[in-house]
Amino acid sequence: RAKKHLGQHFLTDENIAKKIADTLTENNYNNVLEIGPGMGVLTKYLLEKKPKVTVLELDSESVTYLKETFPLEHFKLDTSTDKFQIIEGDFLKQNLPQLFNGEPIAIIGNFPYNISSQIVFKAIENRDMVPEFSGMFQKEVAQRIAEKKGSKTYGILSVIAQAFYEVEYLFTVPPSVFNPPPKVDSGVMRMIRKENYTLPVDEKLFFTVVKTAFNQRRKMLRSSLKSMNLSETLKEDPIFAMRPEQLSVQEFIELTDKIASHGDRNHNRTS
Ligand code: SAM
Repeated sequence: RAKKHLGQHFLTDENIAKKIADTLTENNYNNVLEIGPGMGVLTKYLLEKKPKVTVLELDSESVTYLKETFPLEHFKLDTSTDKFQIIEGDFLKQNLPQLFNGEPIAIIGNFPYNISSQIVFKAIENRDMVPEFSGMFQKEVAQRIAEKKGSKTYGILSVIAQAFYEVEYLFTVPPSVFNPPPKVDSGVMRMIRKENYTLPVDEKLFFTVVKTAFNQRRKMLRSSLKSMNLSETLKEDPIFAMRPEQLSVQEFIELTDKIASHGDRNHNRTS
């Protein structure tokens, strides 16, 4: 009865559900937001650990189950208490600052794999209120977020996530513990926001540089970043003879800084 288009693969192994809930750190944030609770297998462990749990689920059938059966079966909890809040909706369409009054939230889930990258990007966009984020993705995606330079899977997601968060790949989960089993292995990872997560460069420009560079990942930066109006002197800088997968996050920040300062000077000279 699982709905494929919603990426529904329900965990059947309680130990793994608990292990995922345990990726939450001992922090001071009261709010936990679980994306895609399904039948609540992870939710019950979150409720044991944290004072306030909000779950956000797109599937109305799951929401009905969570509202009517779940709390009574597991906790004899009254859903009107503010410990447990159920929201029916699409995570990608939520206004998080409004939903949580700007209060910090830890995001967790056995995420729907069809929208993995969008979920991570949305969490990062809201980094001011998301000090930690953990959960399960397709293994390859979880690894990619944590990947370091030099690897084939190092890309936009890795650089942008690691610019603001410490990312750690935690463990692998086989298809056999899901119903229905997915075709691929799954992986659990965690992102903890850096103490200083403000970049020393224009953040919009940083995003543009990273995305533009990786859109043509096999080219040298001097050609993939052509559209950014690089001056001739800047193009002589050895960094522009490199390919994006050779640059660490720190080097992407330096690259952005070079483009920002040179770009202006070049512009003044030619206009
Ligand atoms: N947490 C449950 C478990 O571990 O058994 C279910 C995990 S299942 C992989 C993903 C869940 O995300 C499904 O319940 C699905 O209905 C829900 N979902 C899919 N797209 C969603 C979205 N855009 N926003 C919120 N939930 C979504």
